[in-house]
Amino acid sequence: MDMQPIPAREGNHNLPNYEKKRENFSWEEVKKNFSWHQTGKVNIAYETIDRHAENPDKKDQVALLYSAPDREERLTFEQLKNKSNQFANILKDQGVQKGDRVFLFMPRSPEFYASFFGILKVGAIAGPLFEAFMEQAVRDRLEDSEASVLITTPELLERVPEDELPNLKKVVLVGDSDKQSDRYVDYYVEMEKASIHFDIEWVDLEDGMLLHYTSGSTGKPKGVYHVHNAMIQHYATGDWVIDLKEDDIYWCTADPGWVTGTSYGIFAPWLHGVTNVIRGGRFTPESWYETIDKNNVTVWYSAPTAFRKLVSAGEKIVKNYDLSSLRHVMSVGEPLNPEVITWGVNALGLRIHDTWWMTETGAMMIVNYPVMDIRPGSMGKPLPGVEAAIIDNEGNELPPNQMGNLALKKGWPSMMRAIWKNPGKYESYFINDWYVSGDSAYKDEDGYFWFQGRLDDVINTSGERVGPFEVESKLIEHPAVAEAGVIGKPDPERGEIIKAFITLNEGYKNSDDLLEEIRLFVKKGLSAHAAPREIEVTKTIPKTRSGKIMRRLLKSWELGLPTGDTSTLEE
Ligand code: ATP
Ligand code: MG
Repeated sequence: MDMQPIPAREGNHNLPNYEKKRENFSWEEVKKNFSWHQTGKVNIAYETIDRHAENPDKKDQVALLYSAPDREERLTFEQLKNKSNQFANILKDQGVQKGDRVFLFMPRSPEFYASFFGILKVGAIAGPLFEAFMEQAVRDRLEDSEASVLITTPELLERVPEDELPNLKKVVLVGDSDKQSDRYVDYYVEMEKASIHFDIEWVDLEDGMLLHYTSGSTGKPKGVYHVHNAMIQHYATGDWVIDLKEDDIYWCTADPGWVTGTSYGIFAPWLHGVTNVIRGGRFTPESWYETIDKNNVTVWYSAPTAFRKLVSAGEKIVKNYDLSSLRHVMSVGEPLNPEVITWGVNALGLRIHDTWWMTETGAMMIVNYPVMDIRPGSMGKPLPGVEAAIIDNEGNELPPNQMGNLALKKGWPSMMRAIWKNPGKYESYFINDWYVSGDSAYKDEDGYFWFQGRLDDVINTSGERVGPFEVESKLIEHPAVAEAGVIGKPDPERGEIIKAFITLNEGYKNSDDLLEEIRLFVKKGLSAHAAPREIEVTKTIPKTRSGKIMRRLLKSWELGLPTGDTSTLEE
């Protein structure tokens, strides 16, 4: 982690001076970019799509550039406006009202996006569910949210236990089905009939728009409730951090079942009126490089787990693709290993910019701006209008370089407004005016923040506090190691010892010598106390479907304890 800072490249970036921007900053300034400033009422769907569709210079621009192995489709802003109006009419006919929860359980597709905006246009609250959820996960979320309408496909409907969901009144089916009661609405038949004109439900900034269940890395997923006001921060970060310009072709790899897939797969890019690439289908390094090459992607937002797979696939295959269109790359979801940043510079010729935020924060909070020096391993600095600090358990700020709770001063625009039906849980996030993230970190003398681990994951070994991220990052620098998950294992003498689970790159065989070599590699690179005492080779590292290492699961396996909620576990 003692790598040299990587300076920014020359270029015309939207935010030339982020330090200056912080001075006398007010979010009111950002609001001026929206049309609702005149009306007092808003709708995020209008600002995202319709505003561009009503602009003669923009209406025919491709908004959605959809590509899946078996389907390619393009929708302009005007087409997306019309389709979402049609869907809004369908919902209205079914009696959907402002504030109702309408859930989506389907793969990424043009239908998904038309439905999503249709939901927002009637003033309802959208709840996107990841398509790979199994029955239990679907039931928990539909039950908790008391959703009244579900949009799904006939295949996925088999995972919806309808008879156990009394609040669910209507099911919109995208695809052919023999379901024949008026409980079921045929998407294509009704869209055909529906008018492309719809009077948007104008709402207040504080009215609800989205219910997102968290990734479940640390426990049972929570229903995080967001309001239209969040668009202020989606817009601002799309400008300052994603650096979007009118003619960009942008690709965010996250599924809209996770907050990155909505805040940055939907809102930020379209608030800025750029062409948004949506890719369906499974991940392979080849297909991802091809997506950039074929669509001339200029700005790319992805996650460490994906970047690590690309690193493992090697630099050689990169040469088979023309990635010269790319100008800006960002990462979120987990700590970005310095190894990956080095790979980005070597393989792509670009820095990868880490961004830190959570479902609960609704938008980016601590970031690496395109114009700033990157210190590999650091998540960067807080946005203008965001105050971040390291605090102790009483809410006192800690001095630089001391590890503590990463906290944020209440009041940024995209903050969650509730945990659905769980006020106690919501209150538990706060100490006085501080929102406490549950992550531990420190801040250096220059104001850069350094992620150490989730509070639950920090290891206490012989009186030293060790963050698993640091050890994992070192482990994957070893050529044999593809992925690593590190936990603390109770030990009578040391409190905890460090245990590492690793997967091996192709061509390497598990042996005592190799494991010892890896151990020494960490010891030499980090310190004796951070070197894992135990290393176990496994086939895979358990991850959430949003791509995060599930250390709590490694721990319960190791200790033979019950595994808790695993609804978001990847197969
Ligand atoms: P749950 O709250 O259900 O356990 P989760 O916290 O994984 O799930 P998300 O809201 O999707 O659900 O993830 C937010 C968390 O992801 C952060 O609290 C942090 O631990 C991690 N994270 C996100 N971005 C970064 C980053 N850039 N660096 C380090 N950690 C990150
Ligand atoms: Mg969390």
